Amino acid sequence: MQSFSIISKIHEGLSQKAYSCKELTQSYLDAIAKENGALNAYTLPTPEKALESARKVDEKLARGETLRPLEGIPLTLKANISTKGIVTDCCSKILSGYTPVYDATVWSILESQNAVLLGKCNMDEFAMGSSCETGCHGPAHNPHDETKVAGGSSGGAASAVAGGVAPYALGSDTGGSIRQPASFCGIVGLKPTYGAVSRYGLIAYASSFDQIGPLALCAEDAARIFDVLAQKDPRDSTSTGKKESALEALKKPLSGRIVGLVPEYFAGLQPDVEKALEEAKRVFESLGCTCKTVSIPEIRYALPVYYILACAEASSNLGRYDGIRYGYKTAHYTGINEMISKTRSEGFGKEVQRRILLGTYVLSAGYYDAYYKKAQLLRRKIQRAFAKAFTQCDFLLAPTVPMTAFPEGFTAQDAVQTYQTDICTVPVNIAGLPAVSVPCGFDADGMPVGMQLIGGSFQEAVLLNAAHQYELAARSQSFRSAGKGVEL
Ligand code: GLN
Repeated sequence: MQSFSIISKIHEGLSQKAYSCKELTQSYLDAIAKENGALNAYTLPTPEKALESARKVDEKLARGETLRPLEGIPLTLKANISTKGIVTDCCSKILSGYTPVYDATVWSILESQNAVLLGKCNMDEFAMGSSCETGCHGPAHNPHDETKVAGGSSGGAASAVAGGVAPYALGSDTGGSIRQPASFCGIVGLKPTYGAVSRYGLIAYASSFDQIGPLALCAEDAARIFDVLAQKDPRDSTSTGKKESALEALKKPLSGRIVGLVPEYFAGLQPDVEKALEEAKRVFESLGCTCKTVSIPEIRYALPVYYILACAEASSNLGRYDGIRYGYKTAHYTGINEMISKTRSEGFGKEVQRRILLGTYVLSAGYYDAYYKKAQLLRRKIQRAFAKAFTQCDFLLAPTVPMTAFPEGFTAQDAVQTYQTDICTVPVNIAGLPAVSVPCGFDADGMPVGMQLIGGSFQEAVLLNAAHQYELAARSQSFRSAGKGVEL
């Protein structure tokens, strides 16, 4: 099988003793030291932790043992994925210096495989944002053009992978935060079905939407990572695990598949994005797929539904940051009420405060029925509309974002305009479905364009199979690494 996988390439290099895991890890750490000033992808490199895992891997190799699927592979984790003993601050002042006393399940799984943690990476504060500019460590930059945003909220993860300073990353996606930065940085980002991957230890933004998933250089790597992570976890009652191996399904031919094109996703696209999507459609047709129009008019409600429900959940989830138990606490106060309100006013950034206020408003007695309840009803309607669409096709092809990466500073100007850039990603989170963003070309300035493949519940194998076959057919035109980092 032709492969673009950096994971299998590294495993080959390690088992053939082309380099030791220590040398491999050191080359990534050196690249981070050199490139991170320009990218600001990492907020906390963890070289000691990385080298300790590398030593265990080298010992195993010396004993002639075979490596497990992600053993010895370096990675970076978004700053909202809990790591015992390593600061996990969600890029928020209110959690500055917060060091969890337990691991997120995804990291427990990887650590038990001796995965090499290179560090924690940049994000929008509490994962609220679309540009990776709202965090307290400053913006992550797009490796294709450092004056443009890396996307958000998992911008640091995408910048690190596209910049060649991490082979892969784990991010979280509540309304597009894996797929949108993947699209802006020209890499693959998979948002799994709600429940496929444990959320235990993911610092909550909006719990009924949040999912952890991989940002990787190709669909095959995303499949390798997904297969390892998608396990039922007794510590997350919403986790169910997965149905079939995504890696094994990659080879399947696509002939006979029906690709749904939802006209509602194609309104108001930047012309270069439209052109790239048109080209992607032709690639799928050349692989034997039939494209068919499948309308989902309910998508027009998606953006308000998402921003009402996500803010409502955020206002409840973020209630725990009060300066009493952990995290930032204001220095001067008289009385408990002033302490809490000053802590929260000083500790949360502007965007997070906006969302907490919006969330408490839509949940308050006089407005609950008008906003929150109505949005919940519309959520069901959108879920049913997607379920109906999948009776007519195998997967949907859509843009990931209506545009390519925008210049830094744009989001600070107009919050609502920024929310509108999430129009193509939020419907999937509302419906709990899986979706993958795959690079499918470039705009006139050389910035990457991403397409989104959306599947029915637990159809990750179908999506990654389609993404992989697409890459085989089109990769030469669609992929260009911006990496100045590690050359293997
Ligand atoms: N951009 C969306 C928001 O700001 C999505 C964020 C996310 O997926 N975490 O809410």
